[in-house]
Amino acid sequence: MSTLPYLPFARPTLDEDTINGVTEVLRSGWITTGPQVKKFEAALSVYLGDRPVRVLNSATAALEVALQLCGIGPGDEVITPAQTFFAAPNMIAKVGAKPVFVDVELISRNLDFNAVEQAITPRTKAIMPTHFGGLPVDMDRLYAIAGKYGLRMIEDAALAMGSSWRGRRIGSFGDLTVFSFHPNKNMTSIEGGALVLADEAEALEVETLRFHGITRLPDGTRDVAFPGGKFNLPDVNARIGLGQLARLEEFNHRRRELVADYFRLLQTDPPCLLPHPGYPGDESGHSWNLFAPLLPLDQLRIDRSQFRAALESRGIGTGISYEAAHLTTLFRGYGHRDGELPNTERIARETVTLPLFPTMTRADVERVCATVNEVLAEAKR
Ligand SMILES: *Cc1c(COP(=O)(O)O)cnc(C)c1O
Repeated sequence: MSTLPYLPFARPTLDEDTINGVTEVLRSGWITTGPQVKKFEAALSVYLGDRPVRVLNSATAALEVALQLCGIGPGDEVITPAQTFFAAPNMIAKVGAKPVFVDVELISRNLDFNAVEQAITPRTKAIMPTHFGGLPVDMDRLYAIAGKYGLRMIEDAALAMGSSWRGRRIGSFGDLTVFSFHPNKNMTSIEGGALVLADEAEALEVETLRFHGITRLPDGTRDVAFPGGKFNLPDVNARIGLGQLARLEEFNHRRRELVADYFRLLQTDPPCLLPHPGYPGDESGHSWNLFAPLLPLDQLRIDRSQFRAALESRGIGTGISYEAAHLTTLFRGYGHRDGELPNTERIARETVTLPLFPTMTRADVERVCATVNEVLAEAKR
């Protein structure tokens, strides 16, 4: 057992001002959706180029509401990577549409655009791309395809709060963008998510969809025209989100510094396949939610779970992002089989997420790299 403190792969940073702010909300007499949510939405809107923003109690809920907003349902297809979190294809299936899985590029882990164009059919209604680990997809190519085929775009930017493409923040342009404020993301509201829109009328529809489908009638009674969910964010969570948003740039700056240390120090034998470093000249566009190299498993005598156990026994936590979504029991049931999406499946086998969060020190990164170097050297074939 290690005598050093345990290093998880992700950890939220909550400051005293935020904790005191939460206490004030708890004492205020109004704890569910109210004034703090209004403030949080306004602050997010300012951060995202004054676009309409509505918060919900998760990104998963925001993805579902976005699909409903686009009128997507049975008979429709939505193109999505399989190298993503289950929430995206799950919500496509949940609204009754078919997720059409495409492969990703091995290094960026973002959509392979050639595969996207080949996957478009007359039933395609939308594309749901993921900005993997905080690295933006090529927004020029994405929106060129959307325009050419008349498709809606629901960007899964759960990992990309604070990322930008050619100097423009993800979420500040385009069609629909979804962010997550889960504790493992770049900012948190414990649970929570946001849907950013291009259109005020659609933002008003989101208010209905996120709360039972309720509309208010002039006589003070209520009506329902659509069986909406119950996805509102409480004020307690919104207050945390406000405290986090105020520090997001600082958090992301720190993530980039730590990642620079990782690139410098993670020089293993046999070598790992390191993640995409960000676009040249636009390195600050990558918000680095995840630092996830691919392990050289074919050159090792151990498998990934043994590698993870070796790190765990030395006090270092790791994660996996992501398994191949098309090979879950759910989507095998749609007819998907091994071998369909080679890059997705290879990433799913070899990826491991190393610790990365703003309060880590350079010494922590040194410790992780030294440990990974040691474990891989010992396990080399
Ligand atoms: C975390 C995550 C989600 C889900 O976010 P929740 O707020 O937990 O619902 C969706 N997509 C991606 C890519 C994620 O990483």
